[in-house]
Amino acid sequence: TAKDHGKNQYAFYSKALTKQAEYRLKVEQYLREAIENQSLSLAYQPQIELRTGLCVGVEALSRWYHPELGQVSPIDFISTAERIGMIQPLTELVLKTACTQAVNWQLQGLGSMRVAINISPNHFLDPDFIPLIKRVITDTDIQASNLELEVIETVAQTEHKNLPVFAELKELGVLLAIDDFGTGYSSFASLKHLKLDCIKIDKYFIDDLLTDNKTQLLVGSIIEMAHNLGCSVIAEGIEALGQVEILKRLGCDIVQGYLFCEPSSPDSITALLRNECDHNL
Ligand code: C2E
Ligand code: MG
Ligand code: MG
Ligand code: MG
Repeated sequence: TAKDHGKNQYAFYSKALTKQAEYRLKVEQYLREAIENQSLSLAYQPQIELRTGLCVGVEALSRWYHPELGQVSPIDFISTAERIGMIQPLTELVLKTACTQAVNWQLQGLGSMRVAINISPNHFLDPDFIPLIKRVITDTDIQASNLELEVIETVAQTEHKNLPVFAELKELGVLLAIDDFGTGYSSFASLKHLKLDCIKIDKYFIDDLLTDNKTQLLVGSIIEMAHNLGCSVIAEGIEALGQVEILKRLGCDIVQGYLFCEPSSPDSITALLRNECDHNL
């Protein structure tokens, strides 16, 4: 009968759901272990100044490889870490590793570089965040002005927007960048509420630069507005040379994307920086 059939269906879905829940628990457990054992790694993506053609900074991007799960995307494991209360130790690990690396490059004579780190919005509500940043600066000896925190527009909304944490960060001298600019619901609010050093224009706009005149006008206006506010501009997700030409014409400061370099191991970045130095001798 239909009723029995329905029951079987239910059993079928309920079994699938249990499987899903089990898998989710397993991933959570693996991630917890990976963060505790500090077995996440970082890839670094160069940021190239258009005026000089030089790498003036790198963005640190978390990577997680697990023998059973394979390479897991940060889009997935960052939200998992947030959900299971492990984002704090993850961010701490990223900050320490990336700042140590940047100082190392500088000590090797490869130039004084900015390192940009993605910070989940919830950190700005955490009273331990400022002490953490202070500790990282002291422990790694990084120049505060070489540490850039990337935040997304949502920090300009609701409970975040009037927090003293942003003024405190400014006082420490660290830089603040707005990531994925233009894709959220609070682009203008973030410009109004935050003292930003840098605006990162999302790939969403860069993708259509070559084919859509309206996008060009929009990006040109964003750049002008950013400059009027005293912010520099990074364009993200550059994949074609034509995009670079347009961005130069529009006055963009810095570019980042696969065209120049994919996020890479520290050793590859060291090699790239060495090469750059040799060329400039
Ligand atoms: P995001 O901060 O906007 O980083 C840019 C993403 O675009 C990176 O993806 C990068 O690999 C990718 N990308 C760079 N150039 C190109 C390009 O030319 N073409 C294309 N198609 N993609 C490009 P990834 O590494 O997978 O990271 C995804 C997101 O995960 C990041 O977006 C960031 O929001 C988040 N994330 C990564 N690491 C961390 C972390 O340590 N902490 C936090 N809170 N979030 C992180
Ligand atoms: Mg970012
Ligand atoms: Mg981005
Ligand atoms: Mg993003």
